[in-house]
Amino acid sequence: MILIDGKKEAAELREKLKQEVAELKLKYNKVPGLTVILIGDMAPSQIYVRNKERSANEVGLKSEVIKYPETVEEKTVLEKIEELNNDKTVSGILVQLPLPNHIDKKKVIETILPSKDVDGFHPTNVGNLSSGYESSVPCTPLGCYLLIKKIEPNLSGKKAVVVGRSNLNGKPMTQLLLKENCTVTITHSRTKDLKAECLEADIIVAAVGIPELVRGDWVKKDTIVIDVGINKTDNGIVGDVNFEEVSKNAKAMTPVPGGVGPMTIACLLKNTIDCFKRSQN
Ligand code: NAD
Repeated sequence: MILIDGKKEAAELREKLKQEVAELKLKYNKVPGLTVILIGDMAPSQIYVRNKERSANEVGLKSEVIKYPETVEEKTVLEKIEELNNDKTVSGILVQLPLPNHIDKKKVIETILPSKDVDGFHPTNVGNLSSGYESSVPCTPLGCYLLIKKIEPNLSGKKAVVVGRSNLNGKPMTQLLLKENCTVTITHSRTKDLKAECLEADIIVAAVGIPELVRGDWVKKDTIVIDVGINKTDNGIVGDVNFEEVSKNAKAMTPVPGGVGPMTIACLLKNTIDCFKRSQN
């Protein structure tokens, strides 16, 4: 079984991006800029944003974090986004989710210019991805996709099962696999026989949020298994896949932690650089 080392893959990607930023700096005499808006003081969001800022600096991006208190008015946030939309030094804008209840997530996402939407959540980017056009792609499924491609460069005709249909993970993952000519089944909480669906798969991507939902006897021999889940349990952090059981059958799989997680931030940096490059053309 190949243990997919997300930390190593993410470090390699960051190194590549660092070189790319240096080349862009020589060519354009400026570097891509990422601005993150952080509202409130929820601990996980603070940690995510700190990691994003550190990684952005590491590859040479210009990075800025704008912080607002939990009570900030929606109007203030929307006006700031408009200002960043018009700021030529800003290539990518990310508003850290979740937002306080009084702020409309849809409005916030739709105010970000699609060309600066590094999370890939704007309906224009969602539509472009599903139409097979160039777009920003949500960072976590993009990371999963890159890990899968590293193991299996030719995915044409493979059967893929995506477990979970969230806008953040399952749906964009499905689009990426379709683009690679996989036959994709998207499953969810109302799927009748999840085990039977998984047993058909050459590739399983689990993004559910239920600890160790996918068991050893759900996975046929030589399947590639990507575990997006991050679940806090009494035994520490576990994924949506039972690692011990599934690793006996899988051809390759990601651990939790150290699998998909590290790729997510690296892909955010990639998206920022890609937005910059598109804006120069
Ligand atoms: P979500 O709650 O938005 O969606 C979960 C999906 O799972 C839903 O579509 C639901 O229909 C499906 N589901 C629920 N119960 C099911 C069942 N019994 N069988 C099949 N499907 C079922 O979750 P999300 O935002 O997509 O996140 C999923 C997991 O991924 C969470 O553990 C989250 O913490 C983790 N996550 C990890 C990263 C990362 O960087 N590694 C990023 C985002 C989310």
